[in-house]
Amino acid sequence: MASVSVRDLDVTFGHLKVLEKLNLEVEEGEFIVLLGPSGCGKSTLLNSVAGLLDITDGEIWIAGDNVTWKEPKDRHIGMVFQSYALYPRMTVEGNLSFGLKVARVPKDEIKRRIDGAASLLQIESLLKRRPSQLSGGQRQRVAIGRALVRDVNVFLFDEPLSNLDAKLRTELRVELKKLHHKLNSTMIYVTHDQIEALTLADRVAVMHGGVIQQLAPPKEIYRRPVNRFVAGFVGSPA
Ligand code: ADP
Ligand code: MG
Repeated sequence: MASVSVRDLDVTFGHLKVLEKLNLEVEEGEFIVLLGPSGCGKSTLLNSVAGLLDITDGEIWIAGDNVTWKEPKDRHIGMVFQSYALYPRMTVEGNLSFGLKVARVPKDEIKRRIDGAASLLQIESLLKRRPSQLSGGQRQRVAIGRALVRDVNVFLFDEPLSNLDAKLRTELRVELKKLHHKLNSTMIYVTHDQIEALTLADRVAVMHGGVIQQLAPPKEIYRRPVNRFVAGFVGSPA
């Protein structure tokens, strides 16, 4: 059973057809990267999976469940954006626990989950700080932690590292890969950065003009691009 299944998805904004009859099957535990230039529809696809926009046609399935008409909160997904969107007045601990309190998760369970996430992300020493007292990399770890403490089937990342400097980006990329190995959860990760895609992904979906041009493991994308767009964008020799 696919973990995420996007079926004949159409998204139109006014007269602009952004996605047309798009299909994508993501396996359980797979790390999929959506790669493509700015404006090609990556965020639109991710937001459709998350339930953050009204799709025009098609279906979204998560863990065997048709969630097309479900609210984001009922889709068991965790989302991490480019801008960290932390609550500035809350401590790190407050940021991590807020959603769980709203969902009425018991106190000791909240503590258990926060301790687990903090240890995985190495932010134990930051729990009492506020976002303004954190570096960009630390804030992004907290943002990932906020998705981590929730009981989710799928993690969705929209260019989570693009606001960080090159060194931090490389570091967090390695950590994210480790995290994926530890959690073994399904991840869909959006980026316009070829290196990021080729190093992180089990399979890369190269997007252009609202269409997935090629969906394949990094090596294959690089060695056997199916068309000139993919070859040009990924920088492969073809
Ligand atoms: P990407 O994430 O690949 O950069 P997006 O999915 O954000 O691309 O956008 C794809 C296209 O859809 C762009 O042309 C963008 O301007 C347009 N678009 C995205 N969201 C909206 C919206 N809410 N209303 C109108 N047009 C939108
Ligand atoms: Mg985007």
